Formats: sequence, C-alpha cells, structure tokens
Amino acid sequence: MSESIIGRARKSGKVEMNFHQIRDFAINKHNQVDDTPYGGGAGMLMMAQPIYDCFMKVCEEAGTKPHFIYMSPCGKTLTQERVKELSKMDNIAILCGRYEGVDQRVIDEIVDEEISIGDYVVTGGEMPAMILADAVSRMLPGVLSEPEGFMGESHYSSLLEYPQYTKPPVWHDMEVPAVLSSGHHANIKKWQRERSIERTFERRPELLENADLDKNEKAFLEELKKNVK
Ligand code: SAM
Repeated sequence: MSESIIGRARKSGKVEMNFHQIRDFAINKHNQVDDTPYGGGAGMLMMAQPIYDCFMKVCEEAGTKPHFIYMSPCGKTLTQERVKELSKMDNIAILCGRYEGVDQRVIDEIVDEEISIGDYVVTGGEMPAMILADAVSRMLPGVLSEPEGFMGESHYSSLLEYPQYTKPPVWHDMEVPAVLSSGHHANIKKWQRERSIERTFERRPELLENADLDKNEKAFLEELKKNVK
C-alpha cells in the first residue's frame, strides 16, 4: 500500500489510509484477542471486545461512523460495480479477520457489509482488504494518470478488455493486427469493442447481460451466437 500508484496517491493525499492493530485493544495481560469457539470445532475465533473497542476508536478519530466492511469468505463476492459504489463513500473501515474468523455478535453489532474476494479461503483478511482498498482507490479522481483510465478496463462496463500489443510489431512470427497501426481511430475503436465482445462471449458470456451495446454491436454479438450453433 506504499508502492506504485496507490503509494503515490497516498503520498499526494488523494487517499488516506490508517492501520490499526487490534491487539492494542486487548484487555488481558497477554494481549490475547482470540479464544476457543463455543460448541467446539477447529481453531480459534477473534473476540468481539477488542474489535469493538478498536472500531469505536476509529469512529472517534474519524469524527464519524465509517461504512464498516468485514472481509469474509461468507460475504457477497466483490464486483467492479460494488467497487464503483464504494469509491463514492467518504469513509470506509475494513476489518481483517484471522484464525477461524470473528465472533458473530460483533459482526451483528457494528459491521455494515461482508465482502468476499472469491470462492476460496485465504489465511487472513489483510490481503483481501488490500485488494478492496486498491480497487477502490484507483477509481478516485486523479489516482490514475489518465483521467477515467479505468473506463475501458475489464468489468467496468460488463465487458472484458480487448487484447493489447506493444512493440516490436512482429514477435515470434506473430504480427500486431494491422488496424492498430492504421491511425484510423474509428476503425481502431470498432476493432477493440468487437474483440471485447468476442472475448466476453467466449469467456464470461453471463456478463453480456448487463453490457451496454449499440445496435451494430448487438448485431455483431448475434452473429457470434449464430456461429456457435
Ligand atoms: N472459517 C472461515 C470460514 O470458513 O468462512 C474462514 C476464516 S479465514 C481462515 C480467516 C480470515 O481470512 C477471515 O476471517 C477473513 O477475514 C479472511 N478471508 C479468508 N478468505 C477470504 C475471502 N475469500 N474473502 C475475504 N476475506 C477472506
């Protein structure tokens, strides 16, 4: 979170991030923040009290109650649509779980939303939180060097991005598609949109339901469907 685009955005004040060590809010002599789950079962659970006290401190420092997200494999899977919505919020706090997760009572009491990064389990919520923070930060004004640079990217408008090429023009006998060096902007745009539609159709056809396609693009998609049949 201190490197590259996000690091620069933080240094220039376009986004502010603060980190809190939940262990600092433990009230026992070993700074323990986990305990065994009622009902038995493997592993330990994070206790409600240190998380609650930490969040209260965060609210006090922020002077407001931030939208509170718990990163959890039980949450709703993160999408670019949700990232867009979250990027419009002024204050977000993210809870990173550890061990087998978190006492349900603190989730019920203070968490607004649970978000999953995908249908798999990682060891802790820190990397999921970094993914969320990165995805949201790059949508804030001025964070990417090209204004609105994310608009053509995969998922922004329910399409996957078209294939891209850089120099040299021929590599391992493979040529860059001629249209991309033609200088004809309308043809380049059309080629890129069609490749996006084609790729989305082949790899993630369900996304196309929400894609915003014009009349010609819809006809192009219908042709693709016919060729498959
Ligand atoms: N026992 C939990 C379960 O089965 O749902 C998994 C706990 S996981 C080992 C520990 C922490 O990692 C979770 O509390 C959560 O914060 C984070 N985590 C793991 N997988 C995640 C995912 N797919 N999305 C978001 N957070 C995740």
